[in-house]
Amino acid sequence: AKSDGGGQYRYFEEEMNRASQRRVTAEHRIRHALETDQVELRYQPQWFVQSNEFSVEALVRIRDSEAGLLLPAEFIDVAEDTGLILDIGEWVLREACAQMARWRLNQIGIKRVSVNVSGRQLERMDFVSVVQSAVNDAKLDFTDLELEVTESILIVDAESAARKLAQLSELGVTIAIDDFGTGYSSLSYLHRLPFDLVKIDQQFVSGIGENEASEAITRSVIDLARSFGKQVIAEGVETKAQLDHLRAMRCDAMQGFLLSRPLTAEKVTAFIKHSKPD
Ligand code: C2E
Ligand code: CA
Ligand code: CA
Ligand code: CA
Repeated sequence: AKSDGGGQYRYFEEEMNRASQRRVTAEHRIRHALETDQVELRYQPQWFVQSNEFSVEALVRIRDSEAGLLLPAEFIDVAEDTGLILDIGEWVLREACAQMARWRLNQIGIKRVSVNVSGRQLERMDFVSVVQSAVNDAKLDFTDLELEVTESILIVDAESAARKLAQLSELGVTIAIDDFGTGYSSLSYLHRLPFDLVKIDQQFVSGIGENEASEAITRSVIDLARSFGKQVIAEGVETKAQLDHLRAMRCDAMQGFLLSRPLTAEKVTAFIKHSKPD
């Protein structure tokens, strides 16, 4: 039994070492990517049904010489833990604004560019001025920008988060609640946040047409949001059946592989031109 326990301990230790090794590698990759311009953005179109307009959501990737293009699942957690998310987040914000300015300059009709914001960014005292300078430096209007935050931002310091979002909202920035329905907060908390849009999480959307619970949740989120005067966007729309159900429920906007995968900026331009022939 004694040697058994020792073996188990050694196994545990090896696992720990492997895990920490992976973290160190990931951290190194992120730093290296930031220093060498290997951070990239893809943009996924969001289709607004009534107006037939498109916004785009900026999604971050890291170019790795060996592994290719890394998805957020492979580095966001480490970035959050190490604080590197602050650097990545600011880079994403500035690049998304700069790209939006290029689209504006070329008269590519895009409603807004939407940027994911981590709780750690929002915690920063200077978050509002970071956003302001990104918008101003790109010579954009605040109404060109949307920020996506999750309900989890309410856990840390709800009051200060709400205050900062209110300031940005006052300036004209659109605020969206991301992954709606997956967090802990109840609607009674949510009403404290100034927001314009809710994004129904993919897990509910994928159940539409397949299980009644997902459909009921989606329907009630849409109805409730509407009664508050908020818009609803469904994410992860993959099938025509889901799209049809969502339209019937009067969901305001759709995002998902059915419409488009995340695209490079050049491909967004082609996508918009194609969707709106003049
Ligand atoms: P999210 O904000 O919920 O973004 C949606 C994710 O779903 C994206 O994954 C997108 O590529 C994927 N997706 C879109 N449509 C479909 C679909 O029809 N089917 C399926 N199966 N997936 C779809 P991605 O790009 O890998 O990003 C994952 C998460 O990483 C994001 O989830 C977001 O939480 C985070 N993230 C991405 N970019 C940033 C960023 O710049 N900053 C921060 N803080 N987080 C980011
Ligand atoms: Ca998002
Ligand atoms: Ca989401
Ligand atoms: Ca999600």
